[in-house]
Amino acid sequence: ETIVVQELANRMAERAADVVKSLMKMGMMVSMNQAIDADTAELVIEEFGHKAVRVSDSDVEQVIDTVVDSEENLLPRAPVVTIMGHVDHGKTSLLDRIRKANIATGEAGGITQHIGAYQVKTPSGQLVTFLDTPGHAAFTSMRARGANVTDIVVLVVAADDAVMPQTVEAIHHAKAAGVPIIVAINKMDKHSANPTKVRTDLLQHEIVVEAMSGDVQDVEVSAHTGMGIDKLLEAISLQAEILELKANPNRDGMGAVVEAKLDVGRGPVATVLVQNGTLRKGDIFVVGQKWGKVRALLNDKGETITEAGPSTPVEVLGLNGTPSAGDVLNVVPTEAQAREIADYREQTTKDKRAAAGAATTLEQLMAKAKADLNVAELPVIVKADVQGSAEAIVQALEKVGNEEVRVRILHYGVGAITDSDVGLAEASKAPILAFNVRANAMARSSAQQKGVEIRYYSIIYDLLDDIKKAASGLLKAEV
Ligand code: GDP
Repeated sequence: ETIVVQELANRMAERAADVVKSLMKMGMMVSMNQAIDADTAELVIEEFGHKAVRVSDSDVEQVIDTVVDSEENLLPRAPVVTIMGHVDHGKTSLLDRIRKANIATGEAGGITQHIGAYQVKTPSGQLVTFLDTPGHAAFTSMRARGANVTDIVVLVVAADDAVMPQTVEAIHHAKAAGVPIIVAINKMDKHSANPTKVRTDLLQHEIVVEAMSGDVQDVEVSAHTGMGIDKLLEAISLQAEILELKANPNRDGMGAVVEAKLDVGRGPVATVLVQNGTLRKGDIFVVGQKWGKVRALLNDKGETITEAGPSTPVEVLGLNGTPSAGDVLNVVPTEAQAREIADYREQTTKDKRAAAGAATTLEQLMAKAKADLNVAELPVIVKADVQGSAEAIVQALEKVGNEEVRVRILHYGVGAITDSDVGLAEASKAPILAFNVRANAMARSSAQQKGVEIRYYSIIYDLLDDIKKAASGLLKAEV
């Protein structure tokens, strides 16, 4: 029975470097990536003033099937799409239009339920799953919880308004997650529509659409008239083909919670997007810190179904409590095991919360980068008071680095630090570098809660100096 030093540090919410140091004092020379035995771990835990509980994730959670699927078991699955874009550019209208267009071709009188996600068929008969919560806040908070459910981002840009601040944010969020973008140029029914302006605006943000000889698909649509909707669906399935999305339907179901609520009549209900395997009625499962036995499964039309395969959104009934969006669901063999895992998780998060500040500091990031020789990127977010300083900082940061480390700018912008910046920082484990700007109250408290580091500067030189030091691994502990 062993545990890797980094993992032990994580569970204690201590810095791995400190754990290595304390091991050194005990005469053990190990790196963060090496494992130590349980007895040594217990000594370390006591050294840090924590209480050791001799039950590890691997013990408790080993009943969860984590076997990697071999290629021959994989079958194509539907793409999962999130719609992003600036407020009022038509995200909600587009989602509604796509859903309605599909009912018209289906059975008459089909009523859709809002369960947080839905599936439609493209004109050529392929399935596409849409997440019903538009915007990058949901996208990023799911990602922060470890649920990367989105395969493709549809970026909606209103043709009468072109690229706006949240458009840029959405681009950065999608890029940080490595998710491909399809541009939907919306409101084409308007007289003031100027799709060319949208395309040229996007160039400045490194989105080169096909109409400008780039490789990002762009489709002109109108959520009002329905123009271009079929083309958009075809663009999505083309992108999905390129991604070769696959899953193994013949294994225990696993998925992510998209939405969850306590329903007066039905008890706790979670909409789960099945990501792999097949979830069936009667399955016993854990989901985050909750568990249950599938009492009923309902699809996005409110119909009862007996099983749900990969990329299917499904309402799950039979939970012992309400999980959170982003929680992962796994099927396990017995109720006793489900309960044990859920209890164990609840306990460990309590421990983590008790141990204050599991922060993502520059120092920890660099320690991690060094521990794992492949992680040679220091992700950062830059906020500045004016465009000129933001650009100057970004340009200078791009030059920082050596053969081991590079600075990667996930997002930069002008103005106060917002909750959205903090969300991106958390999801990408990046610090926020603030130049002559402050965080708004909400962002401040959420940064504190999420352990996101915000570093304030008023002199560009200081900012660069810190990052240079971090990049060469020289940053001294700053308390
Ligand atoms: P969201 O904030 O991005 O979700 O935007 P909404 O879907 O709420 O749309 C904002 C406004 O734009 C609403 O008044 C819609 O009726 C309008 N709108 C959305 N799509 C279109 C469109 O294709 N054409 C026109 N003319 N108006 C649209």
